[in-house]
Amino acid sequence: MPLYQNQTLKIYNSLSKKKEVFKPIEEGFVGMYVCGPTVYSNVHLGNVRTFMSFDMIFRYLKHLEYKVRYVRNITDAGHLENDADEGEDRIAKKARLEKIEPMEVVQKYTVDFHHILDKFNNIPPSIEPTATGHIVEQIAVIKSILDNGFAYEVNGSVYFDVLKYNEQHHYGVLSGRVVEEAIHNTRTLDGQSDKKNPQDFALWKKAESQHIMRWPSPWSIGFPGWHLECSTMSTKYLGERFDIHGGGMDLKFPHHECEIAQSVASNGVTPVNYWMHANMLTLNGMKMAKSTGNNILPAEIYEGTTDKLKKAFAPPVVRFFMLQAHYRSILDFSSEAIEAAEKGYYKLMEALKTAETLTTGKTSSFDVKAWKQNCYDAMNDDFNTPVLIAQLFEAVRHINSIRDKKETITAADLQSLITTMHVFTYDVLGLENIERQQSNTVLDGVVEMLIAMRNEARANKDWALSDKIRDDLLDKGVQLKDSKEGTTYVIQ
Ligand SMILES: [Zn+2]
Repeated sequence: MPLYQNQTLKIYNSLSKKKEVFKPIEEGFVGMYVCGPTVYSNVHLGNVRTFMSFDMIFRYLKHLEYKVRYVRNITDAGHLENDADEGEDRIAKKARLEKIEPMEVVQKYTVDFHHILDKFNNIPPSIEPTATGHIVEQIAVIKSILDNGFAYEVNGSVYFDVLKYNEQHHYGVLSGRVVEEAIHNTRTLDGQSDKKNPQDFALWKKAESQHIMRWPSPWSIGFPGWHLECSTMSTKYLGERFDIHGGGMDLKFPHHECEIAQSVASNGVTPVNYWMHANMLTLNGMKMAKSTGNNILPAEIYEGTTDKLKKAFAPPVVRFFMLQAHYRSILDFSSEAIEAAEKGYYKLMEALKTAETLTTGKTSSFDVKAWKQNCYDAMNDDFNTPVLIAQLFEAVRHINSIRDKKETITAADLQSLITTMHVFTYDVLGLENIERQQSNTVLDGVVEMLIAMRNEARANKDWALSDKIRDDLLDKGVQLKDSKEGTTYVIQ
């Protein structure tokens, strides 16, 4: 009997705003679509959190022995600078600025995206389709929306008619936006726009002469609207109706609302049963943004190349930190928080090692079977990883007590405890076990002593000694980094 038949998984559905018992359309199979990145820059740490959350969900569904088809797209065309169908294509703009081909931009940042996700131990999706690889299919979807009367063509561009759609369906079903209110609150369009109403969104845009990414269509040489690719590719690979659609909270409106409208207008059925949204990551209590400088690139954390952190943190520590919060909660990244997570991570890894060395007895002083079910209950409750981690630490406490001869465990219970710890730590949470390297407290102490000696040498203007300390450390693979806040080090 597959594991899912013994467990009742509940998922918070953004559509009903309630936790619902998960029941896939076809027993034993799960179709899951997650909106992927627009590959015009290095992947954002907040996006890494989102993809990590859906990776954990993918892993748990697979652990429950569902056969999961996980589709995550790559947006390589059609995503304009602002979400109101205006501005330059993000990838084309980058290509123009760097004087390279759009496909070079796409290749560079797709490779970066895969590299970073792999570093954080995310399993690749089952299918990773691209927008440019599905132009023909997107044109077919536009045709069917036009045929069904929910779109109109103006000057070679095709727009989705939101008001017309809303007469028969509900535009705003996911985000709670009310079309009528939106009409009154939106300023009238300037003469430049071909749209009948400001709410309407582009399905196809005619390319201006300077627009380099362009394809032929029945309406003009142009390019598809951003929202269209996800409706098209989710239908193609998962069917007109599928189980789970995920993405970052910021995609709920307009992107996901538009996806629903397009799919209903084209296929006549509601596409998704469970909508899931992962919350955002802040940095030191503030929104992360490149423009304000309140930003860290994922690689800067494990390379130790940001002045926002005192030292480097290994990828599994970052993953552990992220999963300590529930995916629907806002999580704040800070130097203190990641340091605390590092301690917790190594404590867990050490206990896993200790568990292998325990002596067993005739009785168990704690109920391993009940504890195991508590772990499942945590994950069954809308993938509650912080509660799961608390349960793992409950086990750590028992492991350490058994080691200290204050508690006992039978051989069978110990086997079950170890197996369950491994399943949840490695398979479900996806935490790789690394040896403690960069957080070695003895090394910390020694290097800090040398930094203090170097500071003394500098104060005495003994530059020869201060340089020697720096260079000799570098020779041993320890790089000192000076900043306003003082000197820190990274292991190379
Ligand atoms: Zn999408």
